Amino acid sequence: MAFKIKAHKLMNDSSAVNFVQSPNVGGKLDPRFLVIHYTASGPGSDIAAYFSKPAAKVSAHLVIRRDGSVSQCVPFDEVAFHAGDSRWTDKTGKKFIGLNKFSIGIEIENWGPLKKTGSGWVSWTGQPVDAGKVIEARHKFGVPNGGWEIYTEAQIESSIDAAAAICKAYGIDEIVGHDDISPGRKSDPGPAWTMSSFKAKVFGRSQSDDNLMIVRSPSGLNIRSGPGMEHAAVRPDPLPDGTKVVVQEANGNWRFVTVLNSSGQMDFSGWVHGGFLFEA
Ligand SMILES: [Zn+2]
Repeated sequence: MAFKIKAHKLMNDSSAVNFVQSPNVGGKLDPRFLVIHYTASGPGSDIAAYFSKPAAKVSAHLVIRRDGSVSQCVPFDEVAFHAGDSRWTDKTGKKFIGLNKFSIGIEIENWGPLKKTGSGWVSWTGQPVDAGKVIEARHKFGVPNGGWEIYTEAQIESSIDAAAAICKAYGIDEIVGHDDISPGRKSDPGPAWTMSSFKAKVFGRSQSDDNLMIVRSPSGLNIRSGPGMEHAAVRPDPLPDGTKVVVQEANGNWRFVTVLNSSGQMDFSGWVHGGFLFEA
């Protein structure tokens, strides 16, 4: 998909994407940031339709469903109500409080955290989620620990294309998660969202392989629940020599990584010492 922006609407070739105006809007927006969310909903819920109801009191600029289809609910030059209580310090050290006034919000249809039951994984509503669509990971801010629904390839592709068009049109160079701007209160988009490779693709840097690393340690490498030796291992066995990981965050010498399984799919996440990681 090659998106463009015309009159503050997302265009797919020459026609606007599905537009469902939300009444839940503020004043004029001159966007500085892009904020990524998950909807915490399943395929049976139409979140764009929900945003069109005044009673919802919330909205976002875009909603991206599991099949990758995009709906726009608020023009990009109007404030949408997606961030709530939030704050962020930009790259230059300038502080922003209440990110609705400064950002474009993209909601991606995804359950978020899942609970394990005797028969498998379920959403917060109790709906079963296939184990093949679940990553076991610890959120970078520690909550909650468990299963997270994987985002679909179609969603990732649509998100990259839409975000690239938005960032180019509005000169945006910072993309954040809702969890970054409301830490502790929010956990979206969560550890199933590979923010570093997403940003690399949106900003046209050389692919996500930037962040792909290989574990080099003959005796294996412990993967821990936090950035330090004092944190418990998240797996009983260390990662074997040669394990591929995607680096998500750095904290001193420690790296928060997503471990890939033998077929290259995300498997689980945790912290490892960066001294044992080498370029793939
Ligand atoms: Zn959110």
